[in-house]
Amino acid sequence: MIKTDILIIGAGPTGLFAVFEAGLLKLKCHIIDALPQPGGQLSEIYPKKPIYDIPGFPDVLAGDLVDNLMNQIKSFEPGFTLGERAETIETLDDGSFIVTTNKGTRHHAPVIAIAGGLGSFEPRKPPLENIDFYEDRGVAYFIKNPEVYRDQRVVIAGGGDSALDWSIFLADVASEVTLVHRRNEFRGALDSVEKVQELKKLGKINLVTPAEITALHGTDKLEALSINRNGETAFLEADHFIPLFGLAPKLGPIADWGLEIEKNAIKVNNALDYQTNIPGIFAIGDVNTYPGKLKLILCGFHEATLMCQSAYQIVNPGKKYVMKYTTVSGVDGFDGSRKEAPKAVIKAIE
Ligand SMILES: Cc1cc2nc3c(=O)[nH]c(=O)nc-3n(C[C@H](O)[C@H](O)[C@H](O)COP(=O)(O)OP(=O)(O)OC[C@H]3O[C@@H](n4cnc5c(N)ncnc54)[C@H](O)[C@@H]3O)c2cc1C
Repeated sequence: MIKTDILIIGAGPTGLFAVFEAGLLKLKCHIIDALPQPGGQLSEIYPKKPIYDIPGFPDVLAGDLVDNLMNQIKSFEPGFTLGERAETIETLDDGSFIVTTNKGTRHHAPVIAIAGGLGSFEPRKPPLENIDFYEDRGVAYFIKNPEVYRDQRVVIAGGGDSALDWSIFLADVASEVTLVHRRNEFRGALDSVEKVQELKKLGKINLVTPAEITALHGTDKLEALSINRNGETAFLEADHFIPLFGLAPKLGPIADWGLEIEKNAIKVNNALDYQTNIPGIFAIGDVNTYPGKLKLILCGFHEATLMCQSAYQIVNPGKKYVMKYTTVSGVDGFDGSRKEAPKAVIKAIE
């Protein structure tokens, strides 16, 4: 059982910044995210796009903003459960919560901050019979550890950046890479398309277009696939099948936690602290709704900051917290590090 002060669901910019604000109040955080990496929409949808409305940054690449946020919270040593979706919640007699993921990891905390954005990003699965059976037995929708594919026969399906980039990367790792796409044209960065073209010519990637995978075969694990190309079906032996058809956001299991939901978002009290109708559960960032709500990164940062003040009261009942500027208090990391402005020196001037 993972224990923490604030359990944050969602490692987007809102969830990450909440770790920093909580750290200033000496509250420990643990974050769950369905994706294998932190950053939410910024990492998953637009890492290379510049953002122009982050205060103090005339422009910053979304991926760089995530790196900066990760850097900023490092000394507060947050825990991460990545690649797992928060599935169920249980309220204990003392008002604290146990959240369990789809992989069975249990987390216990007195405060839950849902920073789930548009919802958990779920992979778009191809409609193939028995695909669920082959998951973790050769079929995967994310590549967490490329070494798994070393010297293996891999089939990737998809026509976007992920399919192109991973085909290029695995061409040097796997024994065989086959890229299958239902069109001849790919929708990705030009240099990636050109690189795949070049690797195809070198015989390092087998390109099969326009084609679709129509069936999966294997007794205990994936052993082969059927590929339909121009109405003709071929049989291809393979150890791994990685369909990369993008991700679809879903509020998902959180919708069944007894929270007040309006238009696929969680209703919160914006007059105070972004608490939901369940005491101890807050919703911050894109996932919440209230009159005048704007789905912007800076709004998520603000909501995370106010949420932490109330979380402090729940974790430390009866204790008063006096807000201090970081320029005055400095930042004391949980790792023993300390950041502070240089102290004034008392020295006579002759
Ligand atoms: C193309 C594009 C451009 C944008 N440009 C700007 C811009 O210029 N300026 C701006 O301010 N905003 C912009 N936005 C909006 C901005 O990205 C969002 O406001 C921001 O990402 C919200 O952050 P968040 O942390 O609340 O949620 P998200 O970034 O959506 O992160 C939520 C995370 O929660 C996870 N999650 C959800 N449910 C679960 C669950 N049950 N279990 C585990 N994990 C879960 C998801 O996997 C996800 O990683 C843009 C958005 C897009 C798509």
